Amino acid sequence: MYQAPRGTSDILPEEQAYRLYIEQKAADIARLYGYKRIDTPVFEDTELFLRGVGEATDIVQKEVYTFEDRGGNKLTLRPEGTAPVCRAYLEHGMQNLSQPVKLFYIEANYRYERPQAGRYREFRQFGYEAIGDSDPALDAEVIDMAWRFFVSMGINNLHLIINSIGCPNCRPQYLEKLKAYYTQGSQTLCNDCKTRLEKNPLRLLDCKNETCRLLASTAPRSYEHLCPECAEHYVNLKKFLSVLGLPYEVDHCLVRGLDYYTRTVFEIQPEIEGAQSTIGGGGRYDGLIEELGGKPTPALGFATGIERIAANLKRQNLPVPGLPGAVVLVAYLGEAAREAAVKLCGELRKSGCAALQASGGKSLKAQLRQANSAGVRYTVIIGDDEIKAGTVQLREMTTSEQKNVTPQELKEILLGK
Ligand code: AMP
Repeated sequence: MYQAPRGTSDILPEEQAYRLYIEQKAADIARLYGYKRIDTPVFEDTELFLRGVGEATDIVQKEVYTFEDRGGNKLTLRPEGTAPVCRAYLEHGMQNLSQPVKLFYIEANYRYERPQAGRYREFRQFGYEAIGDSDPALDAEVIDMAWRFFVSMGINNLHLIINSIGCPNCRPQYLEKLKAYYTQGSQTLCNDCKTRLEKNPLRLLDCKNETCRLLASTAPRSYEHLCPECAEHYVNLKKFLSVLGLPYEVDHCLVRGLDYYTRTVFEIQPEIEGAQSTIGGGGRYDGLIEELGGKPTPALGFATGIERIAANLKRQNLPVPGLPGAVVLVAYLGEAAREAAVKLCGELRKSGCAALQASGGKSLKAQLRQANSAGVRYTVIIGDDEIKAGTVQLREMTTSEQKNVTPQELKEILLGK
């Protein structure tokens, strides 16, 4: 027996209500703030992610699905949405539009991670990206969108965590301080952090290891080492968050896993223990468009995982609206009635009424069972008598009330016509 590859899963019909509800809400919020949908290919040139996400990141080093196609092109399955959106922004000349350009996506992403609860190799994300403006009010807007989304879903006990990690002007000096601090305590660092100290010192701050966390708690804070421009941006960001009434908390250990972030970083976390508690996050990436060959273009974005949102909804027993199913099942008795049933089903569907045809050759009892398990409101029953009379029996499933109706009456009841 074949199984879905490790870290992937089928989204069965009963799960679709969650997915559609979340994606619809994501699109509703996007419309509310003027963000337009973009879809990018599921694979891109590998180079885009090397440059865009960063060669030193876990994602690029350990997690990308990279392959060569038959033409010898090196391609990578999209591990995240931001770099492709920026590539599309440049490719389609969006820098010539009025800025900022506001886009959103809903897509599947691929990362070769160790599968566990809330962490998969194929997962869905949606994200909002605002490109072409450095205004801290825009940072506050994107954070507000993210917050509003989760609040509108009914997810409770949320924490909004923010930090500012500076820019290429001030970060090198800060990193020197950070390195000096960690070099002193380097004997107690975990092995991963010993490498990070050399290659990616910012990531020392979000190591989950107990002793590393202790060191991080008293480490130098990036927001205390910002250049005047970044400091002003950070002060204004906090002001606008307050103006919007967003209850933010500052955490100097929040740095996020992707290389491209500058200044603002943020995460939204529900109140549960565990490494997979973050349900969404984002930040500014003012250097990314330039890194991809464009002119310097400030930008920021947010992304969240749809499976993790669904898990939170389930954990809180939050119901999602069911998907509309069929309204009526057409049952029949005998060969002549079968033909009439096929015809009626066709007519009902043509006029927009979702109709199911009873599966062939079964007793009436079995057909009514089929109607019950399909959850239809009505069953139409056609037998020889009905054919002769030119009518049908209409049964209301919850009350088991049954009456003879003409085709015209049937239409009035089922279609409100
Ligand atoms: P990131 O793109 O790593 O910043 O992740 C943003 C959000 O995407 C996270 O907060 C999760 O909700 C979700 N996410 C990231 N990686 C995975 C994964 N491997 N499986 C499921 N969801 C994920």
